[in-house]
Amino acid sequence: MINSVAAPQARGKSAEDKIFGANNRATALAVQLGNDRVINGTVGAILDEEGQLVMLEAVQKAYRELTPRDMVAYAPIQGYEDYLTAVAAQCFGQSRPAGYIRACATAGGSGALHHVIHNYSQWGDEIISSDWHWGAYDSMCKDNGRSLRCFSLINKEGTFDFEDFQTQVKAVFEEQENTVIIMNSPANNPTGFALTATDWDRVLAFLEGLLQGSKKNIILVPDVAYLDYSGEKEECRRFFTKFGNLPERLFVIVAYTCSKGFTMYGQRMGAMICVTPNERLADEFVAINQYSSRATWSNSNSAAMKVMSHICQDPVQLRSLEKERQQYFDLIRERADIFMNEADRCDLKYLPYVSGFFITVPMDNTQAVCDYLEKQNIFLVPLRKGIRVAVCSISKNKLKGLAEKIKVAAETV
Ligand code: PLP
Repeated sequence: MINSVAAPQARGKSAEDKIFGANNRATALAVQLGNDRVINGTVGAILDEEGQLVMLEAVQKAYRELTPRDMVAYAPIQGYEDYLTAVAAQCFGQSRPAGYIRACATAGGSGALHHVIHNYSQWGDEIISSDWHWGAYDSMCKDNGRSLRCFSLINKEGTFDFEDFQTQVKAVFEEQENTVIIMNSPANNPTGFALTATDWDRVLAFLEGLLQGSKKNIILVPDVAYLDYSGEKEECRRFFTKFGNLPERLFVIVAYTCSKGFTMYGQRMGAMICVTPNERLADEFVAINQYSSRATWSNSNSAAMKVMSHICQDPVQLRSLEKERQQYFDLIRERADIFMNEADRCDLKYLPYVSGFFITVPMDNTQAVCDYLEKQNIFLVPLRKGIRVAVCSISKNKLKGLAEKIKVAAETV
């Protein structure tokens, strides 16, 4: 019997994602034993204190009010105009950078990242991101014939490792025409780490310096998937203003998603937003990415775009959404505090967490530790250098004692 009929570059690919795998096992066990007997800290979605997936009220209401046409019409490939306007407003808030800003609708934040890799780097290129990154980055690069090269995100002092960032970027910049840098900040997945305003200033000054007199390009991609749970609304968006008035060869593409901020995960709605001082580059951005959308998923989800834009056009609904979102942001903060306080007490190290859905406990042997915890019905995500705890999805009650259990597991296996 033959093993594969796939084309050579597709052989050996496997869709089993560690996160969804662990989540499936946790969900199946919860059905068997009851929700209260299982701790599922795997998936990046907000669950309430009863363990139910949260869908914000304003989003529910907007869905109920959609017309059949809103739901099933083919949307323009770039996305509805009112959606694209709402996306830029929601993303940047009061910190809209100067320059040409254009957006294209994408299939979640994943779609934006896919198009960036596909259209702004070449076959065989290295894409740069931090060592602590969302695992899908690796697959997206690999599936497009690229590979991921990582800089260390956090140095020994627990701050941004600017030294290593410079080293890795320089190395790639010397070799390639385009250097694509994906920077998942604020609320980095899996650490909750964020670059400070000064970090961003140093990053941008360094990139501008590299580009001086050069005919190469740098594509800077802030992945802001968790932006809406990153801090005070306007405060956590201030860094966006720094993207105005950059050199034209430093092209910024923000990867935006409705998955988290609008709790529309499965609706697969996001956008890529460019910021550039050069109108021709903005036009090119729309043309090439629209083309790639047509060549992959085609039109984006009409209903999801309409829901998002209807909420944003209605000040009452938008206020209500922001108020409810704030409550969940506060809840996640409380949960994170419980975990970190207990970790401090039992001397369990975790990476510097500022905000967001996850906290990471650095360690080796992560698979064995997670397997050990699974025997106690605790499901966490084993990463290469740490274990990811989804504080977005574990109730306060279930978080109590978890740090200690991880500590014991790590010492036992
Ligand atoms: N970027 C990061 C770091 C993420 O963790 C996620 C989702 O988990 C995304 C982007 C985008 O996700 P989606 O494609 O579901 O919008």
